[in-house]
Amino acid sequence: MEKSEQFWTILFAMLLLSSFVALPVIREQRWYKKLLFYYFPKYLVPLTPGLKPINVYYKALTPEERKRFEWRVYYFITSTEISFRQFKTTQLINYNAARYLIASCASQISLFLSEDCYDAFHKIIIYPDKYYSPITGQYHKGETNPGAGYIVLSWNSLNSGFANNADGINLLMHELAHALWLENKMFDYEIFEAEALEAYEVMAAVTKANMQTSGEEHFFRRYALTNDEEFFAVAVENFFERPVQFSAALPDLYTTMVNLFKQDPIKLYASRA
Ligand SMILES: [Zn+2]
Repeated sequence: MEKSEQFWTILFAMLLLSSFVALPVIREQRWYKKLLFYYFPKYLVPLTPGLKPINVYYKALTPEERKRFEWRVYYFITSTEISFRQFKTTQLINYNAARYLIASCASQISLFLSEDCYDAFHKIIIYPDKYYSPITGQYHKGETNPGAGYIVLSWNSLNSGFANNADGINLLMHELAHALWLENKMFDYEIFEAEALEAYEVMAAVTKANMQTSGEEHFFRRYALTNDEEFFAVAVENFFERPVQFSAALPDLYTTMVNLFKQDPIKLYASRA
């Protein structure tokens, strides 16, 4: 073999080898998944064969927004490990539908925000009911752990959150709100625009002060007073579950939420109903 020929053979072998090493890494990249999703969808395994979009929110979107919604759902499911623990085999659960519901809810909240949303979280663990956390020594319905990058949810609480849309209580939305808040505050992700966040925080402080004096009668449940993170999570639950009532009860705070999430659930539903 000639010297130059030898050179090309070695180079080719090295390229081949490195592409094998790199392929699994590339396959996990967002740009690669996006390329496939938008331009080569026939190479993808359908996420939910036979399942129609189960989120009513989807129906209120324009065709372009629907495509974006579907992409985000796809990316969330393929980049997040959603695992069910301690479920009895006799419990009949459509695991794929549950994963799809979680990804839909996450996409609804983040649809008009950065694609980096939830990237710090790679795992969602679901228990049948309240679970014991050895870290806090207590039973929990849900938990968002930014250090370890996971969210834990109780299946019963998750379901009851969606069963009643009028109470402004939704565990999944609550924990996802924590995830975004922590990414923005702790990890310096640019989830929210600084100006919009500041305006929200001013109104949140005003609302909290009013809550302190109003007693039990306030639109938000008392739990919102725990701290800034819990207040935000409760605000998010109400914003997406009962926006009309939220806007009527706390119009100024509602407006800051519209600017924060770059969407107005009231207008979205009304204009395209
Ligand atoms: Zn919380």
